[in-house]
Amino acid sequence: MPDSFCYTDERFADIQLLRYRVAGFEALTTRQRLLIYFLSEAALAGRDILWDQNGRYNLRIRRLLETIYINYKGDRESDEFKAFTTYLKRVWFSNGIHHHYSTEKLQPGFSPDFISKALKEIGEIDGLEGHYEELFNVIFNPTVMPKRVNQTEGEDLLLTSASNYYGPDVSQAEAEAFYDAQKACAQDPARPIMYGMNSRLVKVDGQLRERVWQSKGLYGPAIDRIISCLKEAKTVAENEQQAQVIEKLIEFYRTGDLKTFDEYTILWVNETAGDVDFTNGFTETYGDPLGLKASWEGFANFKDKAATARTETLAANAQWFEDNSPVDPRFKKTSTRGVTAKVIVAAMLGGDLYPSSAIGINLPNSNWVRAEHGSKSVTIGNLTEAYNKAAHGNGFLEEFVVDDNTLKLINSYGDACDDLHTDLHECLGHGSGRLLDGVDPDALKAYGSCIEEARADLFALYYIADPKLVELGLVPDAEAYKSQYYTYIMNGLMTQLVRIEPGAIIEEAHMRNRALIARWLLDHAQRPVSGHAIAHPVQGSVDGGPSAVASLAVASADVASSSAVALIRRNGKTYVQINDYARLRHLIGQLLAEVQRIKSEGDYEAAARLVETYGVTIDAKLHAEVLERYKALNLAPYKGFINPILTPIYDDAGNITDVNIAYGEAFDKQMLRYSHDYATLPLTND
Ligand code: ZN
Repeated sequence: MPDSFCYTDERFADIQLLRYRVAGFEALTTRQRLLIYFLSEAALAGRDILWDQNGRYNLRIRRLLETIYINYKGDRESDEFKAFTTYLKRVWFSNGIHHHYSTEKLQPGFSPDFISKALKEIGEIDGLEGHYEELFNVIFNPTVMPKRVNQTEGEDLLLTSASNYYGPDVSQAEAEAFYDAQKACAQDPARPIMYGMNSRLVKVDGQLRERVWQSKGLYGPAIDRIISCLKEAKTVAENEQQAQVIEKLIEFYRTGDLKTFDEYTILWVNETAGDVDFTNGFTETYGDPLGLKASWEGFANFKDKAATARTETLAANAQWFEDNSPVDPRFKKTSTRGVTAKVIVAAMLGGDLYPSSAIGINLPNSNWVRAEHGSKSVTIGNLTEAYNKAAHGNGFLEEFVVDDNTLKLINSYGDACDDLHTDLHECLGHGSGRLLDGVDPDALKAYGSCIEEARADLFALYYIADPKLVELGLVPDAEAYKSQYYTYIMNGLMTQLVRIEPGAIIEEAHMRNRALIARWLLDHAQRPVSGHAIAHPVQGSVDGGPSAVASLAVASADVASSSAVALIRRNGKTYVQINDYARLRHLIGQLLAEVQRIKSEGDYEAAARLVETYGVTIDAKLHAEVLERYKALNLAPYKGFINPILTPIYDDAGNITDVNIAYGEAFDKQMLRYSHDYATLPLTND
């Protein structure tokens, strides 16, 4: 099927904008589409809350910049206007004047003069009278509010952070003492509420007070708008429990009571019957240096039935996979149940999930609720799809893949096999195998998480090449797995290094496991394959160090062609070349058997040797080459999304009867529309 949907949109500064497709929206029932619509409205209605949480000048600065952007009478092609536009787009993308990721204040590429002149032509802006000097200072003076979230040890994290979760005169020590005292008075210490989550802590006449975000409190007008959207959503809920979830959330927004919030999350986590789902509220605490106060976010989504059917097929066959794996029977489970991973389709992103979004969600955050009631863990399939599609044609694969045939293989099968790898890893890999009786689950200590990730990845790599997957209809043919083998090894040996600074080592568990697998395969690809136990890497030392595998040998011509996988040089560049995919699978089976043995027996020495030999050090020369080639591609390091437009269809009596979905709105149009349609708060909320 030809794919005409355009996943990439404009690029500015360090940002690439993408679009996501809401596949399956038309196939929902009318009632479900209406539910999505009202939840989407609720997801957009809290936008101003996040802007104000991110900094107390943000709403005023947004008004100033947008008014100039709309009414500017000078040359819109001039360098200053272009620099102004870029700055505004960055502010939009960050929901405020600090970078969404680094949290450093964005530096404008235009002069205060430019704004002054523009204002002279435009005249007074409503609501900003008397504020201009203050706003200019905040925008242009680099020493004013330089960072949104300061985490520097030893400094007062609140007085030095620009985020608006605490009054400007509240110190870290005061806030910590305030919440320590609250926690000390907990009614049920085993089930603590999320202290401080939904309020700004301020000083009134020298006394600390919480200004709670609720209908009759701070952010009340925005919250009332959210409540009215949720009320409409409730009328078209898919089932009674979903209606109760929404009702409980409304109650929380009305009262601001954190015990009600816990009750709401428990209802939410247990509601799994409906296809449509949402998050809406004060959720993640990354924006508060003390990790208490939660930024507002909104999200409407529904179940991806095709993708979920895939994971259900795997789960239903879990025992077959366990029985046929190459690991020693002593380490196998006699009864295995796969996990069904839920894949969802994003329909609307709002608040702190927009434009920059997570691609997976695991909530709620309350530890005791998770322990007693579980959590919802989902991956957002259509956002991953958009990332994948955007990566095709950005030059990355063309730069790093060895030849056209391999590139073709990856372009035809790559995305589907990436998804399947994730499914195999999550639904079967982690759950397979067993510890021998009496083995301490923490025996591998610091190496435990890397070995565990390696085990799940090896399980996925081994089975993605299995004819059983063709039989189950999960891969189109017996060639598909080769794309995964190539990209996995290329990533482990080379391209994942783009995320590491020169001179550093590999530290993160997933990155270590990928390096471990790829480099072990490279090291063993030339050796005769033994059908039984595998040899421990000979040159490994437990304490690792630069001697272990400091340099990855580039193969000579005859080795390059006789080896299952080799690093080759061509035109001064290094490439991965795979000569024998079937033999690679055999090696993967051997390493899976060994890693399972290490886990099952709790063999700490062997885990340490494997990880330190293959997973930690970096070949400095290859690293430098990869960084240079990646830099030359000039890819945007950050990506985010433009939302679709959901438009209600009305009957003659004014009732909403259905909802239309459309794409293609420009970023600036969408932002200006949101600022107009969802302007729920006053410009100042002190
Ligand atoms: Zn994992």
